[in-house]
Amino acid sequence: MTSETNQPDGIAYDPTSPACLDDAVLEARNVTKTYVLDEIEVNALRGVDLQVCRGEMLAIMGPSGSGKSTLMHIVGLLDHPTTGTVTIDGVDVSNMDQNQLAAVRNKRIGFVFQSFNLLARTTAQSNVELPLIYAGLSGAERSRRARAALERVGLGNRLGHMPNQLSGGQQQRVAIARALVTEPSIVLADEPTGNLDSRSGVEVMAMLQELNAQGITVVVVTHDARIARHAQRVAHVRDGRIVLNECVEERIMADAEKITLDAEADEVAAASTVSVNRRVEL
Ligand code: ADP
Ligand code: MG
Repeated sequence: MTSETNQPDGIAYDPTSPACLDDAVLEARNVTKTYVLDEIEVNALRGVDLQVCRGEMLAIMGPSGSGKSTLMHIVGLLDHPTTGTVTIDGVDVSNMDQNQLAAVRNKRIGFVFQSFNLLARTTAQSNVELPLIYAGLSGAERSRRARAALERVGLGNRLGHMPNQLSGGQQQRVAIARALVTEPSIVLADEPTGNLDSRSGVEVMAMLQELNAQGITVVVVTHDARIARHAQRVAHVRDGRIVLNECVEERIMADAEKITLDAEADEVAAASTVSVNRRVEL
Protein backbone atom coordinates (compact mmCIF):
# COMPACT_ATOMS: atom_id res chain seq x y z
CA MET A 1 0.00 0.00 0.00
CA THR A 2 1.39 3.43 -0.86
CA SER A 3 1.40 6.39 1.45
CA GLU A 4 -1.00 8.27 -0.87
CA THR A 5 -3.78 5.75 -0.49
CA ASN A 6 -3.68 5.48 3.26
CA GLN A 7 -2.62 8.90 4.47
CA PRO A 8 -5.44 10.97 5.88
CA ASP A 9 -5.28 14.72 5.24
CA GLY A 10 -2.94 16.65 7.45
CA ILE A 11 -1.27 13.67 9.10
CA ALA A 12 2.50 13.78 8.99
CA TYR A 13 2.83 10.06 8.75
CA ASP A 14 3.94 7.66 6.08
CA PRO A 15 2.29 4.34 6.93
CA THR A 16 4.90 2.44 4.95
CA SER A 17 7.64 3.64 7.27
CA PRO A 18 8.10 3.60 11.04
CA ALA A 19 9.69 7.06 10.84
CA CYS A 20 7.47 10.14 11.04
CA LEU A 21 7.55 12.69 8.23
CA ASP A 22 7.23 15.54 10.71
CA ASP A 23 8.32 15.65 14.37
CA ALA A 24 7.25 12.65 16.39
CA VAL A 25 4.81 13.59 19.17
CA LEU A 26 6.43 10.94 21.26
CA GLU A 27 9.70 9.14 20.83
CA ALA A 28 11.61 6.44 22.70
CA ARG A 29 15.28 5.98 21.84
CA ASN A 30 17.14 2.84 22.84
CA VAL A 31 14.97 2.47 25.93
CA THR A 32 15.69 -0.35 28.36
CA LYS A 33 13.93 -1.18 31.59
CA THR A 34 15.25 -3.63 34.14
CA TYR A 35 13.15 -4.42 37.18
CA VAL A 36 14.90 -5.86 40.19
CA LEU A 37 12.68 -7.95 42.41
CA ASP A 38 14.12 -10.05 45.25
CA GLU A 39 17.56 -9.61 43.66
CA ILE A 40 16.31 -11.10 40.40
CA GLU A 41 16.61 -8.89 37.36
CA VAL A 42 13.88 -8.84 34.73
CA ASN A 43 14.83 -7.16 31.48
CA ALA A 44 11.35 -5.97 30.54
CA LEU A 45 12.60 -3.71 27.71
CA ARG A 46 15.81 -4.45 25.84
CA GLY A 47 16.41 -1.44 23.62
CA VAL A 48 13.22 -0.02 22.16
CA ASP A 49 13.14 2.61 19.44
CA LEU A 50 9.67 3.94 18.81
CA GLN A 51 8.27 7.00 17.14
CA VAL A 52 4.63 7.92 17.50
CA CYS A 53 3.68 10.32 14.74
CA ARG A 54 1.41 13.31 15.19
CA GLY A 55 -2.18 12.34 14.48
CA GLU A 56 -1.65 8.64 13.95
CA MET A 57 -3.41 5.69 15.57
CA LEU A 58 -0.80 3.15 16.57
CA ALA A 59 -1.23 -0.28 18.13
CA ILE A 60 1.52 -1.79 20.25
CA MET A 61 0.90 -5.50 20.08
CA GLY A 62 2.57 -8.47 21.72
CA PRO A 63 1.93 -11.43 24.00
CA SER A 64 1.48 -11.11 27.74
CA GLY A 65 4.76 -10.28 29.48
CA SER A 66 6.44 -8.88 26.35
CA GLY A 67 6.84 -5.41 27.88
CA LYS A 68 3.89 -3.47 26.44
CA SER A 69 2.65 -1.94 29.69
CA THR A 70 6.20 -1.12 30.73
CA LEU A 71 6.71 0.70 27.43
CA MET A 72 3.41 2.54 27.79
CA HIS A 73 4.26 3.66 31.32
CA ILE A 74 7.64 4.94 30.16
CA VAL A 75 6.45 6.86 27.11
CA GLY A 76 3.53 8.13 29.22
CA LEU A 77 5.99 9.45 31.82
CA LEU A 78 4.55 7.28 34.60
CA ASP A 79 7.89 5.49 34.97
CA HIS A 80 11.56 6.11 34.15
CA PRO A 81 13.60 4.03 31.71
CA THR A 82 16.71 2.33 33.08
CA THR A 83 18.64 3.65 30.08
CA GLY A 84 17.66 5.52 26.92
CA THR A 85 15.64 8.67 26.33
CA VAL A 86 12.03 9.72 25.87
CA THR A 87 11.09 12.90 24.06
CA ILE A 88 7.67 14.51 23.97
CA ASP A 89 7.13 17.04 21.18
CA GLY A 90 10.88 17.04 20.63
CA VAL A 91 11.72 17.81 24.27
CA ASP A 92 13.90 15.31 26.12
CA VAL A 93 12.21 14.63 29.45
CA SER A 94 15.14 12.71 30.98
CA ASN A 95 16.23 15.49 33.29
CA MET A 96 12.82 16.70 34.37
CA ASP A 97 11.88 16.46 38.04
CA GLN A 98 8.63 14.88 39.27
CA ASN A 99 6.69 18.16 39.13
CA GLN A 100 7.79 18.94 35.59
CA LEU A 101 6.94 15.41 34.46
CA ALA A 102 3.52 15.63 36.09
CA ALA A 103 2.89 18.94 34.35
CA VAL A 104 3.79 17.52 30.90
CA ARG A 105 1.67 14.44 31.57
CA ASN A 106 -1.29 16.43 32.76
CA LYS A 107 -1.16 18.79 29.80
CA ARG A 108 -0.45 16.39 26.97
CA ILE A 109 -1.33 12.81 27.83
CA GLY A 110 -4.56 11.03 28.69
CA PHE A 111 -4.52 7.43 29.99
CA VAL A 112 -7.08 4.66 29.65
CA PHE A 113 -6.47 1.40 31.52
CA GLN A 114 -7.87 -2.10 31.22
CA SER A 115 -9.43 -1.98 34.69
CA PHE A 116 -10.85 1.55 34.22
CA ASN A 117 -9.18 2.82 37.47
CA LEU A 118 -12.18 4.88 38.56
CA LEU A 119 -12.64 5.93 42.19
CA ALA A 120 -15.37 3.64 43.50
CA ARG A 121 -17.42 5.87 45.79
CA THR A 122 -17.26 8.85 43.47
CA THR A 123 -19.70 9.92 40.78
CA ALA A 124 -18.87 9.78 37.08
CA GLN A 125 -18.68 13.57 37.02
CA SER A 126 -16.31 13.79 40.01
CA ASN A 127 -14.09 11.07 38.54
CA VAL A 128 -13.79 13.08 35.35
CA GLU A 129 -13.15 16.33 37.26
CA LEU A 130 -10.20 14.82 39.11
CA PRO A 131 -7.39 15.65 36.62
CA LEU A 132 -8.65 19.24 36.51
CA ILE A 133 -8.05 19.69 40.23
CA TYR A 134 -4.35 19.23 39.52
CA ALA A 135 -4.66 21.66 36.63
CA GLY A 136 -5.84 24.30 39.12
CA LEU A 137 -9.22 25.18 37.58
CA SER A 138 -12.17 26.67 39.48
CA GLY A 139 -15.00 24.40 40.64
CA ALA A 140 -17.46 25.82 38.13
CA GLU A 141 -15.04 25.40 35.24
CA ARG A 142 -14.18 21.85 36.33
CA SER A 143 -17.83 20.96 36.46
CA ARG A 144 -18.53 22.48 33.04
CA ARG A 145 -15.63 20.66 31.39
CA ALA A 146 -16.38 17.32 33.04
CA ARG A 147 -19.99 17.47 31.88
CA ALA A 148 -18.88 18.33 28.33
CA ALA A 149 -16.40 15.39 28.31
CA LEU A 150 -19.06 12.97 29.55
CA GLU A 151 -21.47 14.25 26.90
CA ARG A 152 -18.77 13.68 24.29
CA VAL A 153 -18.63 9.97 25.22
CA GLY A 154 -22.43 9.68 25.29
CA LEU A 155 -22.84 9.69 29.08
CA GLY A 156 -24.39 13.12 29.60
CA ASN A 157 -27.29 11.34 31.34
CA ARG A 158 -25.10 9.45 33.83
CA LEU A 159 -23.28 12.31 35.57
CA GLY A 160 -24.35 11.33 39.09
CA HIS A 161 -23.90 7.57 38.74
CA MET A 162 -21.31 5.70 40.78
CA PRO A 163 -19.04 3.27 38.88
CA ASN A 164 -20.91 0.24 40.29
CA GLN A 165 -24.13 1.64 38.82
CA LEU A 166 -22.60 1.61 35.33
CA SER A 167 -21.84 -1.25 32.92
CA GLY A 168 -18.21 -2.08 32.13
CA GLY A 169 -18.48 -0.33 28.77
CA GLN A 170 -19.92 2.77 30.43
CA GLN A 171 -17.17 2.76 33.06
CA GLN A 172 -14.56 2.65 30.33
CA ARG A 173 -16.31 5.58 28.63
CA VAL A 174 -16.09 7.52 31.92
CA ALA A 175 -12.36 6.68 31.93
CA ILE A 176 -12.08 7.97 28.35
CA ALA A 177 -13.87 11.18 29.38
CA ARG A 178 -11.41 11.53 32.26
CA ALA A 179 -8.54 11.08 29.79
CA LEU A 180 -10.01 13.73 27.49
CA VAL A 181 -11.01 16.38 29.97
CA THR A 182 -7.55 17.98 30.04
CA GLU A 183 -7.61 18.19 26.22
CA PRO A 184 -4.50 16.05 25.69
CA SER A 185 -2.83 15.67 22.30
CA ILE A 186 -2.10 11.99 23.00
CA VAL A 187 -4.28 9.22 24.43
CA LEU A 188 -2.51 6.06 25.63
CA ALA A 189 -4.83 3.10 26.15
CA ASP A 190 -3.50 -0.12 27.76
CA GLU A 191 -5.72 -3.11 26.84
CA PRO A 192 -8.78 -0.82 26.91
CA THR A 193 -11.14 -3.61 25.82
CA GLY A 194 -9.58 -6.37 27.95
CA ASN A 195 -12.33 -6.39 30.58
CA LEU A 196 -15.25 -5.81 28.23
CA ASP A 197 -17.72 -7.96 26.31
CA SER A 198 -17.24 -7.76 22.55
CA ARG A 199 -20.02 -5.25 21.92
CA SER A 200 -18.68 -2.83 24.57
CA GLY A 201 -15.17 -3.39 23.23
CA VAL A 202 -16.27 -2.36 19.75
CA GLU A 203 -17.88 0.77 21.20
CA VAL A 204 -14.67 1.71 22.98
CA MET A 205 -12.65 1.17 19.78
CA ALA A 206 -15.19 3.30 17.86
CA MET A 207 -14.66 6.06 20.37
CA LEU A 208 -10.87 5.86 20.13
CA GLN A 209 -11.09 5.93 16.32
CA GLU A 210 -13.39 8.94 16.51
CA LEU A 211 -10.99 10.81 18.80
CA ASN A 212 -8.17 9.98 16.40
CA ALA A 213 -10.23 11.31 13.48
CA GLN A 214 -10.60 14.53 15.48
CA GLY A 215 -6.81 14.87 15.55
CA ILE A 216 -5.79 13.19 18.82
CA THR A 217 -2.83 10.82 18.56
CA VAL A 218 -3.94 7.43 19.89
CA VAL A 219 -1.75 4.55 21.07
CA VAL A 220 -3.54 1.30 21.90
CA VAL A 221 -1.66 -1.46 23.70
CA THR A 222 -3.11 -4.91 23.07
CA HIS A 223 -2.34 -8.63 22.85
CA ASP A 224 -5.28 -9.02 20.44
CA ALA A 225 -4.54 -8.94 16.69
CA ARG A 226 -8.12 -7.97 15.88
CA ILE A 227 -8.04 -4.95 18.21
CA ALA A 228 -4.66 -3.96 16.74
CA ARG A 229 -6.20 -3.84 13.25
CA HIS A 230 -8.31 -0.86 14.30
CA ALA A 231 -5.09 1.17 14.18
CA GLN A 232 -3.19 2.45 11.12
CA ARG A 233 0.08 0.89 12.17
CA VAL A 234 1.07 -2.00 14.44
CA ALA A 235 4.37 -2.12 16.31
CA HIS A 236 4.95 -5.75 17.28
CA VAL A 237 6.69 -6.34 20.60
CA ARG A 238 8.48 -9.56 21.55
CA ASP A 239 10.60 -10.06 24.65
CA GLY A 240 11.13 -6.37 25.26
CA ARG A 241 11.91 -5.39 21.68
CA ILE A 242 9.97 -4.00 18.75
CA VAL A 243 10.50 -6.63 16.11
CA LEU A 244 8.27 -5.32 13.31
CA ASN A 245 6.38 -2.20 12.25
CA GLU A 246 3.43 -3.12 10.10
CA CYS A 247 1.11 -0.88 8.12
CA VAL A 248 -2.47 -2.16 8.56
CA GLU A 249 -3.75 -3.13 5.12
CA GLU A 250 -7.43 -3.60 5.82
CA ARG A 251 -8.16 -1.47 8.81
CA ILE A 252 -11.21 -2.44 10.86
CA MET A 253 -13.56 0.49 11.36
CA ALA A 254 -15.50 -0.02 14.57
CA ASP A 255 -18.55 1.93 13.37
CA ALA A 256 -19.03 -0.64 10.60
CA GLU A 257 -18.53 -3.45 13.12
CA LYS A 258 -21.28 -1.98 15.28
CA ILE A 259 -23.70 -2.08 12.33
CA THR A 260 -22.80 -5.73 11.63
CA LEU A 261 -23.22 -6.65 15.31
CA ASP A 262 -26.63 -4.92 15.40
CA ALA A 263 -27.75 -6.77 12.25
CA GLU A 264 -26.63 -10.10 13.76
CA ALA A 265 -28.46 -9.33 17.01
CA ASP A 266 -31.62 -8.50 14.99
CA GLU A 267 -31.32 -11.81 13.15
CA VAL A 268 -30.97 -13.74 16.41
CA ALA A 269 -33.97 -11.89 17.84
CA ALA A 270 -36.02 -12.60 14.69
CA ALA A 271 -35.03 -16.29 14.76
CA SER A 272 -36.06 -16.65 18.39
CA THR A 273 -39.40 -14.93 17.67
CA VAL A 274 -40.04 -17.44 14.86
CA SER A 275 -39.29 -20.39 17.13
CA VAL A 276 -41.51 -18.96 19.88
CA ASN A 277 -44.35 -18.53 17.35
CA ARG A 278 -43.85 -22.09 16.18
CA ARG A 279 -44.01 -23.37 19.70
CA VAL A 280 -47.26 -21.45 20.22
CA GLU A 281 -48.72 -23.02 17.04
CA LEU A 282 -47.76 -26.51 18.21
P1 ADP B 1 2.83 -6.84 29.13
O1 ADP B 1 2.12 -5.56 29.41
O2 ADP B 1 3.25 -6.99 27.71
O3 ADP B 1 2.05 -8.02 29.59
P2 ADP B 1 4.70 -5.95 31.18
O4 ADP B 1 5.30 -4.70 30.66
O5 ADP B 1 3.62 -5.78 32.20
O6 ADP B 1 4.20 -6.85 29.95
O7 ADP B 1 5.82 -6.87 31.83
C1 ADP B 1 7.04 -7.18 31.15
C2 ADP B 1 7.91 -8.02 32.09
O8 ADP B 1 8.31 -7.24 33.20
C3 ADP B 1 7.20 -9.23 32.66
O9 ADP B 1 8.13 -10.27 32.76
C4 ADP B 1 6.78 -8.76 34.04
O10 ADP B 1 6.68 -9.86 34.93
C5 ADP B 1 7.88 -7.82 34.42
N1 ADP B 1 7.41 -6.72 35.30
C6 ADP B 1 6.47 -5.80 34.99
N2 ADP B 1 6.31 -4.90 35.97
C7 ADP B 1 7.18 -5.27 36.96
C8 ADP B 1 7.51 -4.76 38.25
N3 ADP B 1 6.91 -3.66 38.71
N4 ADP B 1 8.46 -5.41 38.97
C9 ADP B 1 9.07 -6.51 38.48
N5 ADP B 1 8.83 -7.05 37.27
C10 ADP B 1 7.88 -6.44 36.51
MG1 MG C 1 0.23 -5.21 30.17
